[in-house]
Amino acid sequence: SGPAVPRMRRVLLPAPRSFCAGVERAIEIVERLLERHGPPVYVRNQIVHNAHVVADLEARGAVFVSELDEVPEHALVVFSAHGVAPAVEAEAARRGLDAVDATCPLVAKVHAEARRAADSGDTVLLIGHEGHEEVVGTMGVAPGRTLLVPSAAEAAALRVEDEERVTYLSQTTLSVSEVEEIAAALRSRFPRIRGQGAEDICYATSNRQAAVAAVVAEADLVLVVGSANSSNSNRLVELAVASGTAAHLVEDAAAVDPSWLEGAAVVAVTAGASAPPRLVDEVVAVIAAAGPIEVVERPVAEETQEFLLPQRLRGA
Ligand code: SF4
Repeated sequence: SGPAVPRMRRVLLPAPRSFCAGVERAIEIVERLLERHGPPVYVRNQIVHNAHVVADLEARGAVFVSELDEVPEHALVVFSAHGVAPAVEAEAARRGLDAVDATCPLVAKVHAEARRAADSGDTVLLIGHEGHEEVVGTMGVAPGRTLLVPSAAEAAALRVEDEERVTYLSQTTLSVSEVEEIAAALRSRFPRIRGQGAEDICYATSNRQAAVAAVVAEADLVLVVGSANSSNSNRLVELAVASGTAAHLVEDAAAVDPSWLEGAAVVAVTAGASAPPRLVDEVVAVIAAAGPIEVVERPVAEETQEFLLPQRLRGA
């Protein structure tokens, strides 16, 4: 018999994947400020949780800081997509900084819900991961009245001032199934609690999870492009692993270990909402370099969401 015919590897591209409207808006805010004002444009925290996005903007003159006291008086400063506590906005005003808010409107919506619940006298229970920037910002909306709920076990053990007056909310980038489980634990602990299941999880997070869920049974390997601190990217890896499929979070094509591809006839490649689409193309190219591939798009939803830029940056 002749030489073995190489088997065609299948690369599935779950869609939606990669950038969401909130990330595109946040990046565009920094880009427009760089164009209009020139460098430096200070940015408090990573504008979005992606190392490539940050490095690219840094090369163009953005300066990333973790605290406002690193920003010179009266300079331009951008608040990242994850949102900030009102105390940070107040500090920026006190220091005479020219602040531009790149908080995703869907995070701002959760802040507004926290404000409303706390003003009505409720204790706010925030389902989220300790230390994540979005959680720090949302907890800061009503700091004396908000408690963090990281898990269902901790939900059961919570003590609040008045069990009749509680509202729960969640971080926007968690696992839909995990939030539903924690919300159920909260409802059984506090029968009168107000809240809307996994409704605070944003459309981009839930769509990316649904798209991976739709292909995971077929795939031998799932690669998720994203940075290690990207919450929604990590949730995609967990979802695949929980379904019994090998999965890895990769910063970029260079992070793909060729040994993962051995024996993987079907590879799904997706990306978290903060990861640029070109990084997905580069991962697919690395897979193609290991042998012939057939690329198949697997859409589960169409995303048409767009967010307006802040007033001062609209127009050409
Ligand atoms: Fe907004 Fe969701 Fe994107 Fe975060 S992942 S920036 S909440 S749309």
